[in-house]
Amino acid sequence: VSDATRSPDPGARSWWGWGWESEAVSGDALAGVGALLAARFPRGPSPSEVSVPDPEQLDLPAVRVAPPSSLIGLCATDARSRASHTYGKSFRDVVRALAGDLAAAPDVVARPEREQDLVDLLDWCSGSRLAAIPFGGGSSVVGGVEGGAVRDRFEGVVSIDLTGLSGVVEIDSLSRAARIRGGTYGPALEDGLRAAGLTLRHYPQSFEHSTLGGWIATRSGGHFATNHTHIDDFVESLRLVTPAGTIETRRLPGSGAGPSPDRLFLGSEGTLGVVTEAWVRLQQRPRHRATAAVRFTTFDAGVRAARAVVQSGLFPSNCRLLDPNEAAGMDEKGRSVLLLGFESPSFAVDGLAATALECCLDHGGEAPAGIETSSARGAAGTWRGSFFKAPYLRDAVARLGWVAETFETSVTWSGFDALRAAVDVAVAGVLDPGPAVSCRFTHVYPDGPAPYFTVVAPSRAGRQLEDWQAVKDAASEAILSAGGTITHHHAIGRDHRPWFDRQRPDLFAVSLAAVKDRLDPAGVLNPGVLVG
Ligand SMILES: Cc1cc2nc3c(=O)[nH]c(=O)nc-3n(C[C@H](O)[C@H](O)[C@H](O)COP(=O)(O)OP(=O)(O)OC[C@H]3O[C@@H](n4cnc5c(N)ncnc54)[C@H](O)[C@@H]3O)c2cc1C
Repeated sequence: VSDATRSPDPGARSWWGWGWESEAVSGDALAGVGALLAARFPRGPSPSEVSVPDPEQLDLPAVRVAPPSSLIGLCATDARSRASHTYGKSFRDVVRALAGDLAAAPDVVARPEREQDLVDLLDWCSGSRLAAIPFGGGSSVVGGVEGGAVRDRFEGVVSIDLTGLSGVVEIDSLSRAARIRGGTYGPALEDGLRAAGLTLRHYPQSFEHSTLGGWIATRSGGHFATNHTHIDDFVESLRLVTPAGTIETRRLPGSGAGPSPDRLFLGSEGTLGVVTEAWVRLQQRPRHRATAAVRFTTFDAGVRAARAVVQSGLFPSNCRLLDPNEAAGMDEKGRSVLLLGFESPSFAVDGLAATALECCLDHGGEAPAGIETSSARGAAGTWRGSFFKAPYLRDAVARLGWVAETFETSVTWSGFDALRAAVDVAVAGVLDPGPAVSCRFTHVYPDGPAPYFTVVAPSRAGRQLEDWQAVKDAASEAILSAGGTITHHHAIGRDHRPWFDRQRPDLFAVSLAAVKDRLDPAGVLNPGVLVG
């Protein structure tokens, strides 16, 4: 994936939108997206292009704090640094950045170079009542890095950019594990393991622009569609800096010694401490692959097949069911497609793929190309290509003044049909003309799928954020009411708080708040996220 997604010199990361500045959809391509949208929604308002502002020319709020002289070398207050640390990369973030709305900009962007810098920064923030916002790749889509949201409650907001604490430090090849710094971006992490023939093989869609610490803090979901789906499964031990001190957990392949300290910090979203390092479990690079793209005349038949495969004990690495909208261009008859993939470093997997395929054929599937042994070709390759371009297209829709959003959840197999219907109905009802909604499974478990919905909708002039919020509220409400989780892997941040607060048991929230009080007595670490 890293090789496929990186150009030799992609230039700068975008301050306002997804990925590399140089890869943003612009010019004729942007006009082309506008034409496609207009054709798909003939009753919608015409898409009209917003240009990208220059952050140097925008009004940023005055800087309210001065770092102590010992930290001044780590701290920046220039417009570009502050602009690029104001938001994450959700649709709402992109729209606000494009509108030049940087009222939520942090006062200071701090870039620690050593763990001790981080200790000193947290001391400064705790002692001076400054909100301290851990910032990895900044790819949060849930308001997880937006310290400006609590600006008025603090003397200042410090965005702590962790990407200076980067690199693979140590590899234990015998145990197949590596100690890696929290601020390491996905490609650098894989580069550091390549010579040892090892891989973490954790590929969220945001892989290129997100970090190990961010993955751990958000319990990100990666490459494997079954079995080891979240980063949790690969974390052997953690090291964190908290305002109350440093915590390091013991490297263990498994342990029954009480509640797991790792599990306390996995998903803590920068509210309990900053992950500076982790030992992660590695794998050998896969050499054997087998894939199949199975067509189904109805999505429901695909659902039954995916369930049968994942309940059979086969655990394919890829088991992604795409509805006809998601699979557009992959099947000439416009059917749903189930992408199956198996991989192994040590043995041929064609037999496993053949068994899974047989299971799908029993459920009415058709696989014209049969089993292929290179995932770069065929339907899987086509889908993967569009998968990595999708975020740039989402930004194009934002620039054209329309709405594009994704919702992800998981629910039991017995609850899935009702949840999908509830989301469709809820989202269709909020805008006129109604949005286009597509659905795919990103992950599947023996007891249920993780459905992922993509919504694209025309928006009324000047009402892009209100229309987005209406869609977001309707979908989130439908997901929660139908028994799903408010997030399967995108995390809680600030945006999912209202629904998270209803999902988690009250006594659990109180317990978590007590832990936070102990580790972060001044309450400065990412306030407003998860608790408090
Ligand atoms: C286009 C796109 C595709 C995405 N695809 C996926 C996907 O496939 N799977 C998935 O799970 N998510 C996905 N996401 C969401 C996002 O990429 C993940 O949440 C990712 O794990 C965030 O990593 P990051 O380094 O960018 O963290 P950030 O966005 O910088 O931070 C996320 C949260 O973690 C905290 N944090 C960051 N680093 C640390 C640290 N070292 N210690 C403590 N707290 C920290 C922050 O304070 C914040 O609360 C996607 C986002 C986008 C925009």
